[in-house]
Amino acid sequence: MRKLIDRLEQNHSLEKEEWIALISSESEKEYLFARARIASRKYYGNHVYARGLIEFTNYCRNNCYYCGIRHDNRNAARYRLSEEEILQCCENGYRIGFRTFVLQGGEDVYYTDERMVRLITKIKSLYPDCALTLSIGERPKESYKKFHDSGADRYLLRHETAVDPHYRMLHPEELTLRSRMDCLWNLKEAGFQVGCGFMAGSPGQTAECLAEDMLFITKFKPQMVGVGPFIPHHDTPFAGKTAGTLGQTLYMIGLLRLLKPDLLIPATTALGTICENGRELGILAGANVIMPNLSPKENRKKYELYDNKLCAGDEAAESFQHLKSRLDKIGYRFAEGRGDPAEGLGGMKCTT
Ligand code: SAM
Repeated sequence: MRKLIDRLEQNHSLEKEEWIALISSESEKEYLFARARIASRKYYGNHVYARGLIEFTNYCRNNCYYCGIRHDNRNAARYRLSEEEILQCCENGYRIGFRTFVLQGGEDVYYTDERMVRLITKIKSLYPDCALTLSIGERPKESYKKFHDSGADRYLLRHETAVDPHYRMLHPEELTLRSRMDCLWNLKEAGFQVGCGFMAGSPGQTAECLAEDMLFITKFKPQMVGVGPFIPHHDTPFAGKTAGTLGQTLYMIGLLRLLKPDLLIPATTALGTICENGRELGILAGANVIMPNLSPKENRKKYELYDNKLCAGDEAAESFQHLKSRLDKIGYRFAEGRGDPAEGLGGMKCTT
């Protein structure tokens, strides 16, 4: 396995069968994490980027089988932040030091293109030194163009899986892998820095599925890849399914770091949910982004994608100081500024 890890580090690509072999065997994980940390340091030093997450609506028209805010979950307590509430989140975040805001939500029809454009324009005029990331699902190509033209910089849309039969196991028939992929390419064309990604251990996922994810990422060249463990939610069709593991999630983070050393890789809230120090372990496996929660406290519990989602501890932006000291303990610190990717800089951007 070491030979494959070395080859991945040198060539930044593997054949499908090699991916399957490497993903199936986690025998050299400490070696992988050590190489991943070296790769990450080359581009990002000991810096971790902070993004302030604003979960601004949990209304969703979709019915993804894994997701707690799916449309048919009648037990979800729905909320939608007003423009004023969202701006208040940005103000609080700016004061704490955040220079990237991430607006994430379900696919909420209330937030039409016009309302989104108004919101984007407002946030960018108030905080011109900040980057704005959207994560609001699938929209037509023209909408993505409008969002980018009005100032949004980045867009997160996990592809969820690159294998069609697996996509079918996770979603009802009106949602298609084809449409998801088209959206990702359209986002790129519109000029966004794009993040894709998948859950580790989602029901039906095999080593071959993960190999296809890696091949897709090789081809797509996203700026960010989000990987978090699948965690069941009690009010979904996947309530009784087994959760993804910490080990597999960390392993995939390590592989992603070697596949694309300048990638932005978040140590996700889901990772922090399945393990108390999951996010620190994520950083030590090669991740370099953390997204503390800027949403109003009373809404956080309601954005319940999976059971026991962290919502009152160090993932919250108010505990930023505590999070800083936790990072300090493992030898990392938050970077200042917007935290753009170190793409194409040949590893020279950060030498600290
Ligand atoms: N609606 C937008 C979209 O579809 O991209 C953004 C919100 S969606 C809830 C964000 C991500 O949460 C999904 O891409 C999915 O990977 C993740 N997610 C949803 N349910 C999950 C679960 N049960 N366990 C882990 N992650 C989950």
